[in-house]
Amino acid sequence: MVMLDVLMVGAGIGGLTAARSLARGGASVALVERAARPSAAGAGIVLGGNAMACLDALELGSAVAARGRAVDEMEISDRTGRTLRRTSVALPGLPAPVAVHRHALHEALQDGVSGVSLYAGTTVEALREETDAVECSLSSGEVLRARLVVGADGIGSQIRKLAFGAPERAYAGYTCWRAVVPDPGVPHPVEMWGRGQRVGLVPLGAGQLYMFLVADAPAGTPGEPVSAEALRARFASFGGHAPAALARLGEAQEILHHDIDHLPRHDFGRGRVALLGDAAHAMTPNMGQGAGMAIEDGFVLAEALRDAGPTPEAVAVYRQRRAARVAGVARNSLRLGAVAQWSTPWLCWLRDALFRALPASADRAQLQALLQAGPA
Ligand SMILES: Cc1cc2nc3c(=O)[nH]c(=O)nc-3n(C[C@H](O)[C@H](O)[C@H](O)COP(=O)(O)OP(=O)(O)OC[C@H]3O[C@@H](n4cnc5c(N)ncnc54)[C@H](O)[C@@H]3O)c2cc1C
Repeated sequence: MVMLDVLMVGAGIGGLTAARSLARGGASVALVERAARPSAAGAGIVLGGNAMACLDALELGSAVAARGRAVDEMEISDRTGRTLRRTSVALPGLPAPVAVHRHALHEALQDGVSGVSLYAGTTVEALREETDAVECSLSSGEVLRARLVVGADGIGSQIRKLAFGAPERAYAGYTCWRAVVPDPGVPHPVEMWGRGQRVGLVPLGAGQLYMFLVADAPAGTPGEPVSAEALRARFASFGGHAPAALARLGEAQEILHHDIDHLPRHDFGRGRVALLGDAAHAMTPNMGQGAGMAIEDGFVLAEALRDAGPTPEAVAVYRQRRAARVAGVARNSLRLGAVAQWSTPWLCWLRDALFRALPASADRAQLQALLQAGPA
């Protein structure tokens, strides 16, 4: 039986970039993906300058940027479309953030691992940790051995369950619909804050607009039928570019609907099992950094392996380098989401007034602290 350095379970944004990072560092890597063909459910995504810096270091940045649209400024407005904050997101020494369709991003990341073996349409059913390796039994019947197993298999991680037990999953209290529609001419990404509701509009280039709609709701509504008309009625109080974008909702190929869940207890793994991305620390998407943190994780894990080889020591270094940064981003994201979802009218009025009054330098300083602390 071949002994791999690393078996990466999950070929999502985190698993694909980590596999490329590790392979470039000289590790022998294979990927296991539950889906028959790795792809990405979904609409759009914004990759911050920190994530793009990691992708640049992996020579993937230009392929991703070419498939999306560079972002120079981002806006928060109230529900009428009046600007509360407009922040220039181009920072010295960092590449511009990129807004991209998830399918296009996946395509670029997959091209980056063309030399890595992929076991698709299967999963790991059992793990047996030995002194110098982990034996993994796949549902396809194959058995693989690796010095390290990495769970990059998302919020419901099978690897995390098998190795460390199922983590508690928490609902943030709001649910989210996402779609890509023809762009009616939105100039830059804008997030509109209403009362217990938000509308996000993100131009992706090539005439496409990524739209997200967020609303306070009890857990479990994603099973219910959804129509463009019902969403238009639900978000009818929004002005600015929202009505024009909502009018195109019927032209979306699909409307995705998910409750916003997160994992309050982070776990980066130990021994010969590491976890990365949502498997380790699924967070709320309010800072647009979940995928960014997954990309950074893979980058740091590969650096740790370059120094210490595929060993428990490398996993310990990785955990130590990532825990505080990720915890800070997840905490800020949860807080920002809570404020953005306020629904009491006087609190919303106060929030909007405060956000309008804050000096632009405060945004810049926060953004700099967040993005420039990345590993690349
Ligand atoms: C509404 C919303 C908006 C977001 N917007 C942004 C944004 O703008 N910017 C940003 O940076 N982040 C954003 N995020 C977060 C981001 O999508 C995630 O953090 C990111 O996708 C995590 O990547 P991952 O590779 O860890 O996990 P996933 O993307 O979940 O990938 C996991 C992979 O593992 C596979 N898999 C699952 N189970 C198994 C198994 N048992 N065996 C084998 N394979 C398995 C899956 O098929 C998948 O391919 C958003 C999230 C949400 C919900």
